[in-house]
This record gives sequence, C-alpha cells and structure tokens, in this order.
Amino acid sequence: MTAQLPPHSAPDAAFSPTSAEICDFRALDPARDGSYLIIMAIRPIITAPDPLLKQVSAPVKAVTDETRALMDDMLETMYDAPGIGLAAIQVGVPQRILVIDLQQPSNGDGDGDGDGDGDGGIDGINDERDDAEPVRNPQYFINPEIIKSSDDVATYQEGCLSVPEFFEDVDRPATCTVKYLDYDGNEQVQDMDGLMATCIQHEMDHLNGILFVDHLSRLKRNMILKKLKKQKALNAA
Ligand SMILES: [Zn+2]
Repeated sequence: MTAQLPPHSAPDAAFSPTSAEICDFRALDPARDGSYLIIMAIRPIITAPDPLLKQVSAPVKAVTDETRALMDDMLETMYDAPGIGLAAIQVGVPQRILVIDLQQPSNGDGDGDGDGDGDGGIDGINDERDDAEPVRNPQYFINPEIIKSSDDVATYQEGCLSVPEFFEDVDRPATCTVKYLDYDGNEQVQDMDGLMATCIQHEMDHLNGILFVDHLSRLKRNMILKKLKKQKALNAA
C-alpha cells in the first residue's frame, strides 16, 4: 500500500547491496555466534497486470532465519518505494507474509483514530505531516487471519505499489482483530482501527490474489489495468 509521504521521509538509501554482494558476504561470513549478518536488499516489485499477483499465497510452515531475511528485504523494499505496506507476493514470493509501517509523524496525532477521514496520509493531503518527522515502527505479520471485523465501514483513498500512481476510494470494515505470527514466530492478536485496519486488509487481500482495484467498478478497474498495461509496453520498448 502506498501513502504519499513528505519529502524528508525519503529513504536514506545508506546501504543497498546488489544480490551478488549479498551472496559474497554470506559466503565469506555465513554465521557469527549462530546469527547471520543482517544485510537487507531491495527487491523488484511486481506490478499489475501480472498473473503472479492473482496467485493465492501459501501459509508459512515455520518461521525461520530465511523467513526473517525475506521480511527484512520486504521492509527495505517498502521503505525504498516508498510505501506503508507490502505483501511477499509483491516481490514474487507466494507466502502469507506482510510487512507494514505506517511511518506516522512524531508530533502527536498520527491518526489511527478510526474516523476514516484519511488524514493518515494515503491521499497525501495532510498538512500536519509536513512539519513532523515520521517515526519508523515496522510490524511483521506471518499467516495473518482476520478473526473479527466491524460492520461499520471506513473509506480511504488507497494506492498500491503494484498499481503505481493510481489512487481510489475503497470501503472496508473500519476495525478488525487480526491473529498472526510475529517476527519471532510468536502468536499475537491485535485490534486495529484507522489507517492500520485499512492497510492490513489491503495487504491481506494480496495474499488471496486480490488488488484494491478489484474493489472498484469493472469499468474503473479495466481503465486502470489498461493504462498500466500500456505503460508496461512503453517501458519494455
Ligand atoms: Zn497493495
């Protein structure tokens, strides 16, 4: 999921090794005190239309160092894009894994108030954000399940890293309760509202091969997909 963030939130891009460099590094120093060096890599994001994005992702059987390395890469990829949420399938891995970081500003009202007014910044219209430093607070969700959701809906203008540069209003349950495994493989249950509730539902849709454009009218969806297809053809030329 994307949010238009203020300019100073641009990723610092301090260290983004190529995959070749990572391989070398791991070959040279695969383990130290039993723990792998943490080296994150930015992976290419798949954009629509692409059959992979329609695929239903499989549950993760065990949370391993490999799972954590993937989540580290996903987070780095998301910050670089920039976005506020990313599903593993968006980097071509069909596993039920998400990373989310709303990167809300440090000066108080970071939304999450569930009022659905969109000031969480999906639509990029939020003057308050301009003076505030976004705070990183990454969250990792493995095998997430919605165990409860509200009847009342919230409407946010959503964007998606796999549907670049399109933003449309989507209605979703305003609050939800999600059960998942965290970074260490421990089971967690979290109540969510506001932007967080919308974001996790958007990301969980990806695990079932659904994009936010699938919530729009067929006319609007086809228009967007046609433009994306055209853009891909132009880029490939
Ligand atoms: Zn998305």
